[in-house]
Amino acid sequence: MIDNYRHKGLRKKLVEEITGKGIEDQGVLDAFMAVPRHYFLDAVFTEQAYSNMAFQIGAGQTISHPFTVAFQTQMLQVKKGSKILEIGTGSGFQTSILCEMGAKVYSIERQKELYLKSSRIITKLGYTPKLKYGDGYEGWPTYEPFDKIIVTCGAPFIPQKLLDQLKPGGRMIIPVGEGKDQVMHLIVKNEDGSFEESEHGVFSFVPMLKSKEK
Ligand code: SAH
Repeated sequence: MIDNYRHKGLRKKLVEEITGKGIEDQGVLDAFMAVPRHYFLDAVFTEQAYSNMAFQIGAGQTISHPFTVAFQTQMLQVKKGSKILEIGTGSGFQTSILCEMGAKVYSIERQKELYLKSSRIITKLGYTPKLKYGDGYEGWPTYEPFDKIIVTCGAPFIPQKLLDQLKPGGRMIIPVGEGKDQVMHLIVKNEDGSFEESEHGVFSFVPMLKSKEK
């Protein structure tokens, strides 16, 4: 895989575009400059990899729009060393952005094909998140609690197990809704274990599916 000055130029333009749309977390912008998004798409899409579009990544799934990835990441307030659970590894692009920001990332994917493919690319880039082939509704009890949880598929409801696995003081960003569109929800867990919830616009994700559905 090649990452040359042309790709870097395209990334710079993308960073300008998402800055114009309201992304101001420098850590997020730096990570977008650093992670070669075209590695996560089939070679035929190299040119378009840096346009603000979603793409098929196999198994009927899509890599999220760059702006969506940037927006969800910014909402999490990621810091170096943040322990983050991601539901829906997909292409591995969002996972890599979080790793690039210095987070300790745990990511779950329910499609074996995508789990295997993204594992290869992430490893090639030199990132070392913990990846799991499994069901995101269960979270990852072995490694709880998490400082942040990011769900990158449209959830029909907010899974209780994910709320349980969030650290007091932690933040979860999750698109909620059945059908084509979801409302982005930010959930903050207070130190006393209570939750505060706010809504942040409409987005479109592939659905968060139960373990046995295909
Ligand atoms: N973060 C990804 C987004 C991929 S789309 C990226 O940057 O490319 C969402 C992904 O969620 C799909 O790969 C889909 O297979 C996965 N998914 C759907 N339901 C899931 C579940 N219950 N548990 C884990 N992953 C799930």
